[in-house]
Amino acid sequence: MQSGRSVEIGGMRFGGGAPVRVESMLKTPLQDLDGCISELGVLKKSGCELARAAFPDDALSAHLKRLVAASDVPIMADIHFNHRYALSAIDCGVGSIRINPGNMTDRAGIASVISAAAANNVVIRIGSNGGSLNKRQLEASGGDRPMALVLAVEEQLRVMTDAGFGNVIISAKSSSVPETVRANFILSKRHSYPLHIGITEAGGGISGAVKSAAGLGILLAQGIGDTMRVSLTGDSATEVAIAYDILRSLGLRRRGINLISCPCCGRRRVDVGSLVERVKAMLPENPPDGISIAVMGCEVNGPREAASADLGIAGTGAGFVLFKKGKAVASGKIEEMERILAPQLAQITGWPR
Ligand code: SF4
Repeated sequence: MQSGRSVEIGGMRFGGGAPVRVESMLKTPLQDLDGCISELGVLKKSGCELARAAFPDDALSAHLKRLVAASDVPIMADIHFNHRYALSAIDCGVGSIRINPGNMTDRAGIASVISAAAANNVVIRIGSNGGSLNKRQLEASGGDRPMALVLAVEEQLRVMTDAGFGNVIISAKSSSVPETVRANFILSKRHSYPLHIGITEAGGGISGAVKSAAGLGILLAQGIGDTMRVSLTGDSATEVAIAYDILRSLGLRRRGINLISCPCCGRRRVDVGSLVERVKAMLPENPPDGISIAVMGCEVNGPREAASADLGIAGTGAGFVLFKKGKAVASGKIEEMERILAPQLAQITGWPR
């Protein structure tokens, strides 16, 4: 059920069967250009494929232009209310803008944004948010909030399609997981435009990550969603890391190393938590994709439970055993773990080069 249509931003395809893309939003205000450039550098390393930047003031257009020029990550300018800012952002060279035609009152202004986007091959993301549903949309849906989210998207979509513009990404977000899931389920049945998914205002820490994983996981497992953002109160690179964790756990992306560790039980022979930290410290900054490494508490079940791992260690009475695809290949004392693991790790990751 992934969307049939696709759009392209910065040479990257969104939708139409392309891998589910991972987005984030700059937390640094555009006033702080150096801060934005440095945050984008961290986002790039973490695997972010589209970064949204709030563009709340035309006076910041020089900063936006320099940001676009300096960034390896495609930028989406986030604009509210004033169509002139959207025109300005397009002039600055952004590959995409996020607008809500519903909160732009100047109809001719919206038309000019659409023609500028068409002329510059700029993608427009439109969408609804649970916090901005109006009385009319709620009445039209009979108080059914997910349906009101869908109707709100469709109102905005009509503005685009009436102008003959189809280079759009659509989204329906709410801070409620059930509302977001149902709205996106309906949208995916009714439209073939690429779908951006996310749970808005998910919160922070573990609960924010769980809320996002619950909502986005349900959708992604049904093939719904072409691009995603985990919205967290926290740093943007963490949003990206959690998004990849969700995608990896569903087998949808294979970025980086999949680190498996057992939950521990009474059989454990080692402190799994501290071993995981020691293994993590040995991993390259940009590890190759698709490799899985396991850290297991005991040799009784560890190698078998993690038989699919490319490389793993499991605690034994004497220290640890190192295994590849479930088969023991070396062993040693816990203090020797780094020395014994390093050459094996280098073999499968090609690191250090
Ligand atoms: S690997 Fe061993 S210690 Fe870890 S959960 Fe399984 S049985 Fe328990």
